[in-house]
Amino acid sequence: LEWVFFDLNEVVEKVVLLSKHKMELQHIQLHLELEENLPQMKGDPSQIQQCLINLIFNAMEAMPDGGRLTIRTFNDAQRNQLRLEVEDTGVGIPEDKISQIFEPFFSTKSQDKGVGLGLSVVYGIIKEHRGSIYVKSDVGKGTNFILRFPLEFGES
Ligand code: ADP
Ligand code: MG
Repeated sequence: LEWVFFDLNEVVEKVVLLSKHKMELQHIQLHLELEENLPQMKGDPSQIQQCLINLIFNAMEAMPDGGRLTIRTFNDAQRNQLRLEVEDTGVGIPEDKISQIFEPFFSTKSQDKGVGLGLSVVYGIIKEHRGSIYVKSDVGKGTNFILRFPLEFGES
């Protein structure tokens, strides 16, 4: 585990570069709303990168016929937190499924497409970073995953 200070926006930019081609092929419009001069966060940038990849891939899988993907970063100075949002205009998540999506092996996809580990990995990584994740979703409209990371915390 590489525990360092890093710029969350740089991780977003890197993941965007890695997934841009796939987005274009799938007619997904990307909107980046990254707050400039974010304070550095402490953690493992490669794990945060993995988190973002999982969220972005889920978003893309929720928009098979195209749509809009918005990634936001925000410095919530009052709460001393960084906020990261990944929002799509995809199929959405029914309310009665929301409580299960972070469980390992929960998937609504065919077996060749998903085994249901993406979000459980995301959850574990966020917890290691003392962060939290919240999801807002409307069936047929889209989904927004909201992640918060503390800017200062003691070592465990
Ligand atoms: P997998 O993608 O392999 O199914 P995940 O853990 O990544 O597993 O996601 C679990 C389930 O949560 C998905 O099968 C899907 O039903 C739901 N889900 C996750 N992200 C989204 C999203 N952006 N839009 C709609 N449903 C989603
Ligand atoms: Mg997934």
